[in-house]
Amino acid sequence: MKDLHTFGWYAARVAPYLPKKAFKPVPARLLGGLAYVLVVVAGFLTIGLLELNLWWNLAIAAALGFSFSAMGFLGHEILHGTVVRKAWLRDLLGAVAFWPLSTGPKLWRKWHNMTHHIHTQDEELDPDAWPTITKLSKSRFLSWMYRLPMPVRSFFNFLALTITFTLHSSRMFATYIKEFKPSKRPVVWLQLLMPWASWFSLLFVMGLEKWFFAYLLPLFIANFIVMAYISTNHRLNPLTPVNDPLANSLTVTVPRWVDVLHFNFSYHTEHHLFPGMSSKYYPMVKKKLTEMWPERYHEMPMLKAMIALWKTPRVYYQGTELIDPHQQNVYGSLGHGLDPDHIEYKILEEKETSADSPRVKIN
Ligand SMILES: [Zn+2]
Ligand SMILES: [Zn+2]
Repeated sequence: MKDLHTFGWYAARVAPYLPKKAFKPVPARLLGGLAYVLVVVAGFLTIGLLELNLWWNLAIAAALGFSFSAMGFLGHEILHGTVVRKAWLRDLLGAVAFWPLSTGPKLWRKWHNMTHHIHTQDEELDPDAWPTITKLSKSRFLSWMYRLPMPVRSFFNFLALTITFTLHSSRMFATYIKEFKPSKRPVVWLQLLMPWASWFSLLFVMGLEKWFFAYLLPLFIANFIVMAYISTNHRLNPLTPVNDPLANSLTVTVPRWVDVLHFNFSYHTEHHLFPGMSSKYYPMVKKKLTEMWPERYHEMPMLKAMIALWKTPRVYYQGTELIDPHQQNVYGSLGHGLDPDHIEYKILEEKETSADSPRVKIN
């Protein structure tokens, strides 16, 4: 992989074309957050106080799940400092926005801002990157999972997206808590325990059945929505030795109204160039990227990206390819032979390292 550039390299070349206001915080984003908080409170009260039939409960759970995920997207933005600049206010608002997902602001900034953004798609250092074949061979569970036929495995992987964010967030807590100074640790613990304490209190107030519709089911829905973006942001791209967002990130496209409701979270390549910029301005950045580096830029409708995820394995082989370790089928990644319209693989012969074995079409 040659000719890679850091996000700073691209940012320095795009920034001169952007208006000054694009680099200022946008506190008006909080109005959207307020709207979601009101929906959530109204949803809790409706489920808690009324005896509704199953369909009403499901409809409200869907609205709550959608709101939880959207609040998470806003929390992501807030904790990048693009909504307010004052650190204490940023963390307070970020904590409120991430409350439904129970991820504390200090943990999030360490895991996401300081690690994922700095080391994106680095095999060792990115906490969100998927395993390589070498790492996989060390995990019994993953090795076992890859013995399942692809459609079965994909089905369970997609089902697991309903809990993946919560699981991953807990894992990140366990990983990073040791890295905080002992004096900071109590706050990090508090930021984890307070949301969970409130959700379990709600269980005692509401009873299990209502709590299922008011919190648990919405949490599954929110996990799925958030993970649909997170999975497609980088997992069809190669691992990269240089943190080059045009090589290692994918911008997905969604209907305009979804972008409005999700605070433009779909613009992920743009976000990796300018994490400190409000996502309000990412359409402008995208325009510049598609003009300046059309051959490097990756974008795809969300649904197509999800289908490509379904049809490809999630284990990296030599950084730029994805391998089904049991079948020994090797697929390309974006920019390295993966065509989402015609997903193909080649069969890896024993000890084979060259790329000239025949490609087989599967769809
Ligand atoms: Zn990312
Ligand atoms: Zn970010």
